[in-house]
Parts: sequence; structure tokens; C-alpha cells
Amino acid sequence: MTTKRVAVITGGASGIGRQSCLKFARKGDQVVVADFDGVRGQETVDLIAAEGGEALFVQTDVSKFEQVEALIEETVNRFGRIDVMFNNAGIGTPTPVLDQKLEDYHRIIDINQHGVAYGIIAAGKKMRELNIKGVIINTTSVFGVLASPGTFAYHATKGAVNMMTKSAALELSPYGIRVVGVAPGVVDTPIIQGYKDKGIIDAMKAKVMGNKLTQPEQLADAVYLLSLEEASAINGSVVMADEGYASFK
Ligand code: NAD
Repeated sequence: MTTKRVAVITGGASGIGRQSCLKFARKGDQVVVADFDGVRGQETVDLIAAEGGEALFVQTDVSKFEQVEALIEETVNRFGRIDVMFNNAGIGTPTPVLDQKLEDYHRIIDINQHGVAYGIIAAGKKMRELNIKGVIINTTSVFGVLASPGTFAYHATKGAVNMMTKSAALELSPYGIRVVGVAPGVVDTPIIQGYKDKGIIDAMKAKVMGNKLTQPEQLADAVYLLSLEEASAINGSVVMADEGYASFK
């Protein structure tokens, strides 16, 4: 009998995270849904259970290191291992740089940047301790490489995630642990509502293949592919999953 993989997915209550939880579970992995939204997080677990899959919800604020460590401990206590860590939870609200409130700036750094760092550190240590050749996948963004108006703090976090991905990949590769970034373009999830309200999304959509929003299921597919043994040559890379957004003029 082959051992089932165990995947921890942060931001699993919504959007890309929820669809990734469903995708990994449909493929036979045991899934740990982590999110600070308890109601919608449990809903993801119920959706998986309704399809006959196996999942656990652990309420987690990724901006608190002790909670991320507890998430990893609970995962291993329940399922005995951790093969995939998908650091995906994130927030983003459009704010011009000179209007940026410092408390909002710090909040976005705490979640989007420190949350990913904590996930890399806690999961990486556990994989090393258990001698598991796992994979850590971090959600970044086309805005980790491209500038756009009104997203100063968000850019800062995604640029940081790109470099944390490369740097962690370098240090974890001796243990057989891969670290990969996935960069979505414009995905139809609640996070883009603020941009929709400001009419920014229509202009962005025009740069995407087919002039449409990417669906979160498409991101889940990309993340699942990156998690596979067949993707073993992909390490330290930030893979664009943006339907051409960052490549088209
Ligand atoms: P979403 O709003 O649907 O999901 C984000 C999830 O993260 C929510 O369930 C939320 O509760 C959770 N979350 C927020 N703060 C948290 C915290 N401190 N601790 C735990 N959970 C927390 O948005 P999404 O589009 O699915 O976003 C997922 C990731 O994709 C984010 O990192 C986002 O920056 C990135 N991204 C999204 C797009 C897009 O167009 N939707 C584009 C590029 C990158």
C-alpha cells in the first residue's frame, strides 16, 4: 500500500486555497485546511468530506509564528507526516503609496510576507526532522515582478516571496525539499473585489489570454502539477500561472 501524501494549504477557506484543497483531496491526498476564517474553513472540509475525501481544519492566523508551528504539529499528530506546504493565504487592498496607512502596510507585510516565511520555516524544519522530501509552494503574483499603481505594499510582499522562494530552495535542496513560487495573474476570487469596485479589473483582463478572469480551479491545477514528483526539476523558480499577463504587452 502506498502512503498517502499530506498537504497543508493556508488560505484554504476561499478562492485559490479552497480549490487547491479540493484538487489535492480529489487526487487522494489528505488535506489540512488552514485559515483564520473558521466558518468557511470548516466548509471546505465539509465539501471534501462530501466527496469522500479526508481533511482537517486548523484555525490559523499565518501572521503568528506560534500558530503556524501549532498547525504543523497538529498535522503531524493527525496524519503522521507533511509532504506539501502551500503558503497561499494573503490579503490585498488597492491603496496609493502616499495614502498608505502604516497599520495597513504592516498588516499586509505580516500576512503576505511573514506568513509565508513562517510556513517555510515551520514546514521545512518538520520535513527535515522527519526526513521527508517534500515541496513548499508559495503564492506570489505577477505583481512580484511588475509594477502597477495603487498596490505598493502588496508589491513589497510578493517581491519578498519571490526572493524567499529562491533563497529557501537553495538552503533546503540538500534535504531533498523543493521550494517553488506560483504567480497568478488576475483570478476571480474575493480578493479582487476592491479592484473591481475601482474599475481596475477590466483594464487588467484585457492583458490576459481570452480577455477573461482566470478561475481559481486553474490555479489549483497548476499548484497540484508543481507538487508532483514529475516536477522534480522545478526548484527555486517562480512559475507564472497568469495566462500570459506578465508576458503580453
Ligand atoms: P481569497 O480572498 O479568496 O482567499 C484568501 C484566503 O486567505 C481567505 O480565505 C482568507 O481568510 C485567508 N487569510 C487572509 N489572511 C489570513 C491570515 N492572517 N491567516 C490565515 N488565513 C488568512 O483570495 P485568493 O485570490 O484565493 O488569494 C490567495 C493568494 O493568491 C493570495 O496570496 C493572493 O495574494 C494571491 N493572488 C491572487 C490573485 C488574484 O487575482 N485573485 C492574483 C495574484 C496573487
